[in-house]
Amino acid sequence: VKSQGELQALASRVALVVFDVDGVLTDGGLWYGPEGELHKRFDVKDGHGMVLARLTGLKVALLTARTSAIVETRAQELKLTHVAQGQRYKGPGLEAVCAALEVPLSATAYMGDDVNDVPALERCGLSACPADAVDEVRARVHLVCSRPGGRGAARELLDLVLKATGRWESAMRQMEP
Ligand SMILES: [Mg+2]
Repeated sequence: VKSQGELQALASRVALVVFDVDGVLTDGGLWYGPEGELHKRFDVKDGHGMVLARLTGLKVALLTARTSAIVETRAQELKLTHVAQGQRYKGPGLEAVCAALEVPLSATAYMGDDVNDVPALERCGLSACPADAVDEVRARVHLVCSRPGGRGAARELLDLVLKATGRWESAMRQMEP
């Protein structure tokens, strides 16, 4: 975990924010019916943070080991820059996302909540996790958010980056007609 000053410096270089999905954009709950996965619960404030990012040219991508139409639907709704599903290995997965979007790893922030995210967290320029991430992840990241997954952790990271990169004022101007 880094100091506020160090976090600001790392966040000021970020051009792309990549999120794991389950346990980061959701509380990790997987709602099943007899046919398989039915629901995931996303947070509207996290979603609005991604809208603010898009309005100000900050790229947002998802990187998940699982594959579901639910994630595709949410990403389309928020017009996210990139979605990578079925990525069992998050380290190479993050490298591929960065290559596709032509953003260096050093200018990329990544948020994950479990041990399979560690390779991606160790490669990126700014690493973050929700408050309820596993201990092994909490011990390795630059930023442990005060809010849990699916309840504002993503928004916390996005607000930090939007403010540190000078995008916040521009985002606020777009809240007026
Ligand atoms: Mg996860």
